[in-house]
Amino acid sequence: MKPPPKNDSSETQTTTAREAALLAPYAIYSCTTAGRKHEEPEHAYRGPFQRDRDRILHSAAFRRLSYKTQVFTGEMGDYHRTRLTHTLEVASIARTLARALRLNEDLVEALALAHDIGHPPFGHAGEDTLAECLASEGGFNHNRQALRILELLETRYGTYPGLNLSAEVLAGQSARAAKESGQTPPLEVQLVDAADSIAYDTHDVDDALELGLVSLPELFELPLWREATQRVSSRYASIRGDELCRAVVHELIDSQVSDLLAVSQRRIEKLGIDSPIAAQAAEPAITPSAELSEKKRGFESFLYERVYRHPKVLAMRAEAQGSLATMFEGYLNRFDLLPEKFQRLASEFGPSRAVGDYLAGMTDRFAQHEYRRLFANKDS
Ligand code: MG
Repeated sequence: MKPPPKNDSSETQTTTAREAALLAPYAIYSCTTAGRKHEEPEHAYRGPFQRDRDRILHSAAFRRLSYKTQVFTGEMGDYHRTRLTHTLEVASIARTLARALRLNEDLVEALALAHDIGHPPFGHAGEDTLAECLASEGGFNHNRQALRILELLETRYGTYPGLNLSAEVLAGQSARAAKESGQTPPLEVQLVDAADSIAYDTHDVDDALELGLVSLPELFELPLWREATQRVSSRYASIRGDELCRAVVHELIDSQVSDLLAVSQRRIEKLGIDSPIAAQAAEPAITPSAELSEKKRGFESFLYERVYRHPKVLAMRAEAQGSLATMFEGYLNRFDLLPEKFQRLASEFGPSRAVGDYLAGMTDRFAQHEYRRLFANKDS
């Protein structure tokens, strides 16, 4: 097929024109944005959500995701996902879904890149430890921490704290932090949640296989894996071993994305969703089919029992929790060891929260380094 004839206009296409041509009526349009807390002039050719995406991508907290644990630590090898590569997989799946459903891709990408930015070092083990350490101060949760990073801790402009993102990006992350509220989040947020689930179900089993924590015969007991294997084998009869596993992993992503797209499209129509407001007044529309949800539940219980509770993972968890808890107490007792920025934060938010913010921002390896340098065996 030939490309369409060139437009003779030399003007750059505006985001408003582009979105008017591409997006569905239920998408969130850039031109309807409620704006930023601190007013800024519009950019010449980047839309507001595109700028937000770029601000998140260029933040220090985003870069640090490269040395943060997703499930397996850096000491266990180089094959498996880090928090950064997980985030990029989520963003890639989310963009595919957004484009097919004609939702706002820029907003979706900004939300996807920010979705795990609040994770402390050592994955959920680190999160649980900080939640215990801060129990009397309102606790700790990675979704709420992401908001603190975006609105307060990242300092990009001398004049005000935070990245000064658009209201819709912050509202999207707030909706993630208020998951238990029972309110339906915007479609773009539902979509990122769905992409997150597709990414981690698939890559955690891939990583666990590579690390030898689970075996192929065990996986074959699970309908989700078995059926994907059968589909791949019927298409490529001769592939075996590692190649077959890779193909099954791709098939798992592709089949989940296809199921989600078909079901969500039908549900959006059935619920009569024709605007972002209607989307939030209705029940969630972007969810997998009942059949796939059931299979995912079986898959996730397997992952929980056999991967997340694997002795090697639990040993890492115990070690990480011990050192983080020691560091939390250690910095509280030696406040002078904190960087100045966090000492200043303490005057507004209290010393415990400031220590929590400092620890949460650390990568696994920086936390290990600082633990050994400052606190290990200091009381023996
Ligand atoms: Mg995630």
